[in-house]
Amino acid sequence: MNSVQITRKGEARLESGHPWIFASDISNRGSAQPGEAVRVTNQKGRCLGVAHYSSTSQITLRLLSHTDEPLTRGFFFARLKAALEHRLRVAPAATSYRLVHAEGDLLPGLIIDRYGDYLVLQLLDQGMDAVRHTLTDCLTELLAPKGIIARNDVPVRRLESLSQAPEILSGEIPERVPVTLNHLALHADLRRGQKTGVYLDQRENYLAAARFARGRALDCFTSTGGFALHLAAACDSVEAVDSSPDALTTAQANAQANSIANITFREANAFDYLSGLATARRQFDTIVLDPPAFAKSRTTLDSALRGYKEINFKALKLLPPGGTLVTCSCSHHVSESSLFDVVAQAALDARRTLRVLDRRTQAQDHPILLTVPETLYLKCLILEVL
Ligand code: SAH
Repeated sequence: MNSVQITRKGEARLESGHPWIFASDISNRGSAQPGEAVRVTNQKGRCLGVAHYSSTSQITLRLLSHTDEPLTRGFFFARLKAALEHRLRVAPAATSYRLVHAEGDLLPGLIIDRYGDYLVLQLLDQGMDAVRHTLTDCLTELLAPKGIIARNDVPVRRLESLSQAPEILSGEIPERVPVTLNHLALHADLRRGQKTGVYLDQRENYLAAARFARGRALDCFTSTGGFALHLAAACDSVEAVDSSPDALTTAQANAQANSIANITFREANAFDYLSGLATARRQFDTIVLDPPAFAKSRTTLDSALRGYKEINFKALKLLPPGGTLVTCSCSHHVSESSLFDVVAQAALDARRTLRVLDRRTQAQDHPILLTVPETLYLKCLILEVL
């Protein structure tokens, strides 16, 4: 194994429990090759563990082991098996779930979503891309899936100089894959759908939102209909809005497949749509806001917070006392307390008083590591208008 030497600052970062070493904290790259497993050494030459090396990303090293060991098939098999066992504990009834949540499963650079007999991988760095056939082999032994696809069309792979073309790693992936999510029978487009097909991270929040939902509901940023489909049984009617026609086609098919007839899907910009509803003096009893990550990086945080405030303000204007607001942020740069602040400001401006019914995060199959803040990214607040 080649060795890469890191600075004292880099070493302190590993000691703080975070597995990433940035390019600025590398003192000697030695002969490390793209995507290789390398020994990480400190200034005195002591080995601190083994990491995947990236030749192009600002995140140069992602630590996989604290011991000086080769990253063999057996190593990956054990990590994948542990990830599977964790899901059997936290989501025993689920057949579709996130099987591997990168750092949260001590496998930085790797996401695996399971949809029954099918697996979707996101190989986010050169190291995981290089071991994709080993991973495929281990997953085949563990789960005997009918098909495994690597969804390589993820922007971060560009930072790794990796291809954007999806790759079938084993078996076949049908155009539409049947997925059971909570009590619903859905169809997912694992080849082209947003993320890996379905927003699995909201699985538990769909049920929580449905507990408080009633009357006329509005689901903004519905994508393939996750919240709308879950709310439909508790509500008289649901309007569901998204700007993506492809996502809405899947959403419509999902409603039909579950014999749900009280959802109206609309293709629109949610900001404009909310303004139009205010002009038309429409009111709702329940509103869900699940926008895309407005803050993709720390530099866009201020404008992102303005976006969150605006959308929450517009929604609150449509919610009379007694109404329920379900408001989410999937940007890890926006902390729960920042989201609280922004929604509080929006409520003051809209002359509404809000009480917290529930504070939630991503479903438990997306585990959070206390020392790796990036693993906690989804916030979901359920609020009551007093
Ligand atoms: N609530 C969804 C996930 C939403 S992801 C679920 O649970 O499955 C964010 C969605 O916002 C995407 O579907 C994207 O197409 C949509 N989107 C992005 N910008 C938008 C805009 N300005 N107006 C409406 N939809 C938008």
